[in-house]
Amino acid sequence: MNIDMIKEYKDLSVFLLKTLQGSLPGGQGSGKVLGSLYESLQSAANASQIKRIHKQVKDLLLKEKPVDVNLLLVSMQRLKNDLLSQSNVENDLQSLIDEFKSLVGMALHHIEGLSLQEKESRELFIQCRDELKEVATPAAMNSYVGKFKRLFSLNIFLDDETGRERDELKKIISILADSISGLLQSSGAFDSGLDECVERLQRTQSLTEVQEIRELLLQQTKGLQARTRQMVADVEQARGQVDDANKKVEVLKKQMEKVKQEIIIDPLTRTYNRRAYDEKINQEMMGYQRYGRPTALAIIDIDHFKLVNDTYGHRTGDGVLRVLSEVMKKEIREIDVLARYGGEEFALILPHTPYQKALDVAERIRQKVEDSRFTYKGKPFSVTISIGVGTLKENDTLDSYVERVDQALYRAKNGGRNRVVGDDG
Ligand code: GH3
Ligand code: MG
Ligand code: MG
Repeated sequence: MNIDMIKEYKDLSVFLLKTLQGSLPGGQGSGKVLGSLYESLQSAANASQIKRIHKQVKDLLLKEKPVDVNLLLVSMQRLKNDLLSQSNVENDLQSLIDEFKSLVGMALHHIEGLSLQEKESRELFIQCRDELKEVATPAAMNSYVGKFKRLFSLNIFLDDETGRERDELKKIISILADSISGLLQSSGAFDSGLDECVERLQRTQSLTEVQEIRELLLQQTKGLQARTRQMVADVEQARGQVDDANKKVEVLKKQMEKVKQEIIIDPLTRTYNRRAYDEKINQEMMGYQRYGRPTALAIIDIDHFKLVNDTYGHRTGDGVLRVLSEVMKKEIREIDVLARYGGEEFALILPHTPYQKALDVAERIRQKVEDSRFTYKGKPFSVTISIGVGTLKENDTLDSYVERVDQALYRAKNGGRNRVVGDDG
């Protein structure tokens, strides 16, 4: 008898025995017997020993009432007859092949009643069942063994244990899928892949597929983690953009303040301009008319300024205008408004100021200007100013008010300049 053949046959038998051991409904006793048979099968050296062991397996299977007792009986009987009637090596080999076929047939029949949900295992099962009849030579048996082993290696035996494991896994995965779905919805991301997983999970009876779905869901969670990280990064970026925008708004606010100031400030003297003067004098008119709030106005004109320009030049004249403005500003309060009224003429609005007080302020300013010294090419010179002062009176219009103060200034000029004249004076 061919030694390789025995070895191949032994391998297959060991494999079958293990499979039967796993799927037999019997208690501990039969498990033990099968265990010892399994060991003796491994140490078996020739065909007759193997056959003897097979007989014991057959007895055991009969005792334990496997799925199809009749089929087992018939095949074992045929095997026995064959073995009895054949004795030469050729027949021995043939009988081994037949025995192999009958055992495989039994095994196939045994698993037929089990759950074969996977397409792959179902197809392989049908192939194994159909091709078994064709096995006639040791070579055919060899190639068949590969296929048969593959069928058993697929995850087809869903006994109670695996069924429970599958159901447990299904439950866990359902919870996992639910929480992922909740997270996805709250983050606004919809994933049809997840829905698909849940549907498959509800349909499937196969442990392998449940395990596959678990892997898919794990990938989904990884995707979700990545998305969450991205969301956090986006929020950070948006926050940065808001900060930048706020900074820009601050800069713009400052620029606007500056522009607002520029609109009401005279660029040469940095006193208020005519526009600011107009607004302020109107406010003062309103304050007086509504609340009787006193207000005074002084119109200041530089004496013989044309001569200053003519003598020292226009640029020196500009310098004089600038310096005099500073001198005058130092003498007034924050609420007073000193505005450049015309070329070398200024208006000073003095809110909440009675007549005499206005005269005092004007005189103080006049004195300070007179005391100021300028130099041109090392030679000192000074300038003087004339000031007309008046307070707003009942029945005044803006024109009558300004006209009266202008008249006072006119009188100051005519009176010899470098003096203060009031509208009552
Ligand atoms: P009065 O005492 O009568 O006021 O004599 P005045 O020379 O000051 O008066 P007038 O109105 O004849 O001349 C005003 C001069 O002021 C004429 C003009 O050249 C000069 N002036 C007006 N604006 C400016 C300016 O922005 N810069 C300079 N440098 N001079 C100016
Ligand atoms: Mg003048
Ligand atoms: Mg003038």
